[in-house]
Amino acid sequence: MIDGDERAWMREFRDEVRSKRDAALAAGETREAEDWAAVLAGHEAEMGQAGVGLEARRRVRSTRRRQEAPALPKRAMRPTTVGRAFTTPDGRILRPSMFITLTLPSYGRVHGGLPVNPETYDYVGAARDSLHFGKLIDRFVQNLRRAAGWNVQYFAVVEPQRRLAPHLHMAIRGTLPRADLRQVIAATYHQVWWPAVNEVRYEGDHLPKWEDGVGYVDRETGEILPTWEEALDTLETDRNAEPRHVMAFGAQADIRGVVAGSRDADLSIKYLAKYLTKSLGEAVAEVAEAADDGARDSARRVHVRRLVEALRWEPCSARCSNWLRFGIQPENAKREMEPGRCPKAAHRAERLGYGGRRVLVSRQWSGKTLGGYQQARRAWVVEALGLEEADADRFVWQKLSATDAQLAPLPERLMRLVADRMAGRARLAASMVAEQGPPGDGGSGVGGAL
Ligand SMILES: [Zn+2]
Repeated sequence: MIDGDERAWMREFRDEVRSKRDAALAAGETREAEDWAAVLAGHEAEMGQAGVGLEARRRVRSTRRRQEAPALPKRAMRPTTVGRAFTTPDGRILRPSMFITLTLPSYGRVHGGLPVNPETYDYVGAARDSLHFGKLIDRFVQNLRRAAGWNVQYFAVVEPQRRLAPHLHMAIRGTLPRADLRQVIAATYHQVWWPAVNEVRYEGDHLPKWEDGVGYVDRETGEILPTWEEALDTLETDRNAEPRHVMAFGAQADIRGVVAGSRDADLSIKYLAKYLTKSLGEAVAEVAEAADDGARDSARRVHVRRLVEALRWEPCSARCSNWLRFGIQPENAKREMEPGRCPKAAHRAERLGYGGRRVLVSRQWSGKTLGGYQQARRAWVVEALGLEEADADRFVWQKLSATDAQLAPLPERLMRLVADRMAGRARLAASMVAEQGPPGDGGSGVGGAL
């Protein structure tokens, strides 16, 4: 599902971080260089997961910035994952976070989650936005990181609105000025550089047929349909080509600052956690049920049906059989592909066009760098052995392999871990009781889930 535009951005971001690391190295800032290297490793792993090879082909057009798009605020980059800290007058250090809700634009007026005028409601626009919503989120995170100047970490949940468009709740670690955040939201867009074919060439009984060793051909003329790669090549050489779809967020963004341990923070965490236990389908059913009240029932069903019908015929990916409608062979075309019958999840009613993951967590959400983890692990071992930090240097530190004879069997290690965790919990509970009385009297609920 990664397109050329996305690849280009991922590489650009990698190159930026890489040059920061090299600059830090050249300046002899070893610590900083290590942190940049950790950021780089994380990002390259993300690239790998997304199937973006380091030397993959770059489609030039994709990097062109949209003319009318607002500019992105830009700051000096820092190798941190946590953002700004504030010191209170009594010396406490606060690292506030933000809670953002991002929605898609309007497709026509809605009332009670239903279009006021179903005839003019833009179902195709809604379907396309839903299909590419994941990309817009990725782009938002990339822009956020560039604008913030640090490797912003996030925890987010996608859920449906009553009008059946997906929206996003996102907790981000650290803060940036609201005006900057609004600017990032406004400046974020995603262009889908897919063949912008508007004319349906094949439908009903008039469909291309499969020939082994050849691919899909026109039944009457015998013309071999262009392959996906050929269609992209044509797009690339066409100076007047337009993206198939351009999308951006709607104007209704909700931004709140939250401080850890505050009531607001607890509410935000509960809000996010609430959706973790439900599938998107259940959430959709819930939305539908909530709107069901007799007379509105049929209107609701019509709304769902129209959206699903629009989703049925939209290409969901390069490999979608719907490309055959427009006379293009899908990527990796094979026999028995039929427009309107793509088996991919995005077309299913309960997914509402969103084929991505419900819960999105950045790799370094815990707010530590690799170096930080190594330090923490070492400190833990030193403490467990009852050593002083200074003594620790007398030992040789070595990682054991999983098959090492000195390593206790897995069940034993697990039981030890559980026992340790229970003892830790008990200590924490005891200290909380000592500090603020028994739980349940308004003391802060420490959110373990995040
Ligand atoms: Zn599809």
